[in-house]
Amino acid sequence: MTNLVSKWNFPTTVRFGAGRVKELPDVLKDAGISNPLFVTDPGLARLPVVASTLALLDEAKLPHGVFSDVRPNPVESNLTAGIEAFRNGGHDGVIAFGGGSALDLGKLIAFQAGQTRPVWDFEDIGDWWTRADAGAIAPIVAVPTTAGTGSEVGRAGVLTNEATHTKKVIFHPKMLPATVIADPELTVGMPPFITAGTGMDALAHCLEAYCAPGYHPMADGIAVEGVRLVLENLPKAYGDGSDLTARAHMMSAAAMGATAFQKGLGAIHSLSHPIGALYDTHHGMTNAVFMPYVLAFNRPAIEARIDRLAAWCGIKGGFDGFFDAIMKLRADLAVPATLPDLIEGFAPDPARKELIADMAIVDPTAGGNPVELTRQAALDLLEAAIEGRVAA
Ligand code: NAD
Repeated sequence: MTNLVSKWNFPTTVRFGAGRVKELPDVLKDAGISNPLFVTDPGLARLPVVASTLALLDEAKLPHGVFSDVRPNPVESNLTAGIEAFRNGGHDGVIAFGGGSALDLGKLIAFQAGQTRPVWDFEDIGDWWTRADAGAIAPIVAVPTTAGTGSEVGRAGVLTNEATHTKKVIFHPKMLPATVIADPELTVGMPPFITAGTGMDALAHCLEAYCAPGYHPMADGIAVEGVRLVLENLPKAYGDGSDLTARAHMMSAAAMGATAFQKGLGAIHSLSHPIGALYDTHHGMTNAVFMPYVLAFNRPAIEARIDRLAAWCGIKGGFDGFFDAIMKLRADLAVPATLPDLIEGFAPDPARKELIADMAIVDPTAGGNPVELTRQAALDLLEAAIEGRVAA
């Protein structure tokens, strides 16, 4: 019998709805922030969505600084520069504004600016988070502009270690934003490639959380509804970026995925993390490439679960029907079918393949895969994703 012992953490206050970004000055006041550092990425910094949000702060006469030196897949030098901006500006909190990259870096700046130990001491391993000075963590308000990572409701930030080319998860419960403003209007400007990749990230979170072993019926419930929302709404948001209803449902699904994945993730992420760290690919799109190969690999352990999920989503044919729906969704969203389709010139030699497999099996997400991810299994999955061998 399953061990009915578990630990449940649920997210924070979310002000959800189109146009609610206007409430930002009130939210900052409630969070006790009087001089925020606005953290975003350079692409967004050039868009009207940032200018109009900063205008809200000006209208409310709130002093603020702006930091936008954030790479996709942020690195330690981004964090160091952000901490310097935070300290130099005398800031007392962070507005993390953007996709997962800006949200994560904003959260990490608020966390790390008051710490004395190196950030890598707070990797999500055992109780390492207790090493942090919790009283020195600045408050965070998160405003997502993509609908994928769900980092806005998460207690962690992902940072790439440039020295080791590994993606590390930095965790502390107080990295959870005090308030989230989830305004789907902010996602309307996402180009189709980013809409597809981020939406597939939300799907990967829900799917892997649902398939992870362990007792967490709340996470399971959130995950299955999250999958349904993505299957119904991602094609609509992709086809018509201004469809606010579809954008809103995708924003919910993203937060639901990140809420659900406290239960665990799996081999999609274990393989996607080394590829992202070594080749700087988009996280969600990399997950989307691996998804069917991992689903097929896990089939013996998850078939009955996926039958139930398919029924909830109104898909006929149980596991096979669900698998076909994922393949169709990928094709409709122009997701690259293979790794060479995702990464130009991708032809790793055997040593490189072994390195990727070795990184995958020690990734913290590997333990959540419902079938043991052995080194050979990781190599086989990598080979399948290179050759495009999908068979459910
Ligand atoms: P991203 O933040 O890297 O953004 C991708 C691109 O989209 C950027 O060029 C950005 O400028 C652009 N963009 C964002 N919003 C836009 C908008 N509204 N209009 C136009 N362009 C817009 O992408 P992402 O997928 O949201 O985040 C990926 C990052 O999140 C990775 O670093 C990944 O490791 C991390 N991540 C974190 C968690 C977590 O739990 N903390 C979970 C999954 C992924």
